[in-house]
Amino acid sequence: MSESISQFVHACEVIDVHEHHMPEIALSRDVNLLKLFQQSYAAWTNNVLPSEPKADSSMISAVAEPTSWEALAPFLENSGSNAFVRNLVGGIADLYGVDEITRENWEAVDASVRLRHKDAKWPGQVIERAAIKRIVTDPFLDPLLNPRPALGENYDAVLRINAFAFGWHPESHDHNGNSGHALLRRLGMQVKTFDDYCAAIRELVTGCARRNQIALKNALAYDRNLSFDEPNEELARQAWGQMSPSPAARKAFSDFVVDLFCQLAGEADLPVQTHLGTAIISGSHPLRIAGLIERHPRTRFLLMHLAYPWSRDLLGMAFAYRNVWLDLCWSFLLSPSHFKLALHEAIEVMPDDSRLMLGGDCLHVEETFAAIQNARQLVGEVLSEKIAGGYFRFRDAERLAVRILCKNASEFFGLS
Ligand SMILES: [Zn+2]
Repeated sequence: MSESISQFVHACEVIDVHEHHMPEIALSRDVNLLKLFQQSYAAWTNNVLPSEPKADSSMISAVAEPTSWEALAPFLENSGSNAFVRNLVGGIADLYGVDEITRENWEAVDASVRLRHKDAKWPGQVIERAAIKRIVTDPFLDPLLNPRPALGENYDAVLRINAFAFGWHPESHDHNGNSGHALLRRLGMQVKTFDDYCAAIRELVTGCARRNQIALKNALAYDRNLSFDEPNEELARQAWGQMSPSPAARKAFSDFVVDLFCQLAGEADLPVQTHLGTAIISGSHPLRIAGLIERHPRTRFLLMHLAYPWSRDLLGMAFAYRNVWLDLCWSFLLSPSHFKLALHEAIEVMPDDSRLMLGGDCLHVEETFAAIQNARQLVGEVLSEKIAGGYFRFRDAERLAVRILCKNASEFFGLS
């Protein structure tokens, strides 16, 4: 019986609530094996200094260079035990029909990757093979992207709010280099005053549906700490128009704008996806956003990544606040074994079965394939263990599996 729940999970379709699929990367025709590593979480094992926030845009700037064993070895040999590397290697091996990537076969795998990516149909075929039927993408290179024309009808997007929370000056920008003022100008909005800016943000949220944006995304854990205090409008206004506002005014501006977005999201019934854990590690503990969640009881927050490494604190919050749901994405890429432990607890602690959903959180479809297949494997293992331990019956596990992989996301985002 425990084997058959795993088989059931492997056959379940997925609604993937978080990817970073963007036409420039996911649909690029110029992709080789090395680039799949450079533009993946495996790259974080090599390229990022411990003192820096793990800026996601650093993965994009990978220069095109031919694959060589010397360039692959830092991932495959030096960091070969890391879970990001294991995940990606497993996915590539599966998709390209090898057991591992080795010094002997890397050239053949590289040739297959280059060939496959020349075919415009390849990304869609990989998504189909992973049985992912809908995808919510966060295209951080262009926060205004309507995903459907380029990526397809199975895509929706989120509106990333970081640039707007840093919009005290036309030249201020977030960690991806996006300027709130430039984005508003693209929508034809001229802002001269702080009040214009607030009105433009209202307009921006109203326009989400037109761009197939079905949620807001707060990724400010890469830009600042997550202590979003009560809005202090007077202090926020002091930052307006300043090239270098005082740290207090800058924080107040960003707190004020985030609060406004959360209020508007509640009014428009748009969920707010929020990155928690890691990023700027000293500022991303989930309890830092407790105040924001309490101030907006009508807003639905989708809290991400099991706030690794603070998953137990997050589960406590998800129990206490009924406007909180959890997106498990990325947590199982960081640590599959911790994910299993946390999922066992999450099943026990969640107030109802609607709360958990998952995504891949990747740039390229190969890593997405790997992530979603790994998620199925781990969810299947946890449910098997729950059945074997007598926690619940097969049919309870089956119902919960469908909810985690698909049904919860469909209901949460109101997908037809
Ligand atoms: Zn992400």
